[in-house]
Amino acid sequence: MLTSVQKRIYLSPPHMSGNEVNFINEAFMTNWIAPLGPNVDGFEKEIAEYAGVSDAVAVNSGTSAIHLALILLGVEKGDTVFCSSLTFVASANPILYQGAVPVFIDSERDTWNMSPDALERALIEAGLRGKLPKAVIVVNLYGQSAKMKEIITLCNMFGVPVVEDAAESLGSKYYGKKSGSFGEFAIYSFNGNKIITTSGGGMLISNNTEALKKARFFATQARDQAVHYQHSRRGYNYRLSNILAGVGRAQLQVLDERVALRRAVFERYVKELRYVPGLSFMPELEGTHSNRWLTALIVAEEEAGITSEALLESLASENIEARPVWKPLHLQPLFRSSLYYPHNELENVSEDLFRQGICLPSGSNLTEEDQMRIVNCIKRSLSIKV
Ligand SMILES: *Cc1c(COP(=O)(O)O)cnc(C)c1O
Repeated sequence: MLTSVQKRIYLSPPHMSGNEVNFINEAFMTNWIAPLGPNVDGFEKEIAEYAGVSDAVAVNSGTSAIHLALILLGVEKGDTVFCSSLTFVASANPILYQGAVPVFIDSERDTWNMSPDALERALIEAGLRGKLPKAVIVVNLYGQSAKMKEIITLCNMFGVPVVEDAAESLGSKYYGKKSGSFGEFAIYSFNGNKIITTSGGGMLISNNTEALKKARFFATQARDQAVHYQHSRRGYNYRLSNILAGVGRAQLQVLDERVALRRAVFERYVKELRYVPGLSFMPELEGTHSNRWLTALIVAEEEAGITSEALLESLASENIEARPVWKPLHLQPLFRSSLYYPHNELENVSEDLFRQGICLPSGSNLTEEDQMRIVNCIKRSLSIKV
């Protein structure tokens, strides 16, 4: 029998280590209550070291980090920027902030990320029109790296820089190198639902230290070198608070543990559900190591005997927070008039994934007992004996 009110299980709740308060206390004791200070400097240095890049700039969100990357790449009104379609809207909103025009690229099935085939067609056509994009924003969905080798080779051929949206893939690896170390610029997010969090925050990283110096300038109202307050460029107030950077430093200390825990959550789902007809898990590309930020799977209606929507409703009725896969951006009313390149003539992969894909609760603090509640609810919904 089910009890009438069961404790809510969240999709991806914050998971503090306990050490965060020490960094916060230190900030209070030394009165560094500002969008600069030792925790900001420390957090930047530690993230750059972790990612294996030369520098990092701490900002107040992943979205502002993407915005700064586009500014540094000279994206302006009327320019084109390519972007993965299967992603959260934050990947593309900064394109609009610059008055630029997004073009959306479909996914492929091996990674659910940007299809190199679709990207190639889009680049060739853009080249023929004489208007190549100023940047390509590549997303690493739910922790899985995109096919970076193929994508970067193509972008290099056309001389177009890559911005790696690694908001969901901090701690993941691609052929031994950290996710986020591939693009000209990459970004991480420390929003409340991400693998580590500062409640809200982000990081812009790169090997181009000169460009990152400019990023700090644009993120602090673009103040010129002068004693008086003088400004020649449009600036922003995007820096991260020294208190929140302290939370980030403590979270970063346990990041690799969090990756191991999320992967263990994924493995338990696989163990319990692998023989259930109609369910298939998001793949992990050979040579990559996903942080498994969210466990995502496909519900094939024919074999499962249930739609992904009905399964989500069933989970919701038992106070379990599961979600559909991101709605592709080319299907969003906001981007109605945008150009879109499907994987090929026959396959529209992101739309298939959206129709059938769901994300299960995947917190690194999810207990085995709670996870079994989810597993059993899924089995019951598919009329499998538990
Ligand atoms: C969370 C997220 C962002 C934005 O990060 P914020 O810190 O919330 O601004 C960008 N892209 C993707 C893919 C995300 O999941």
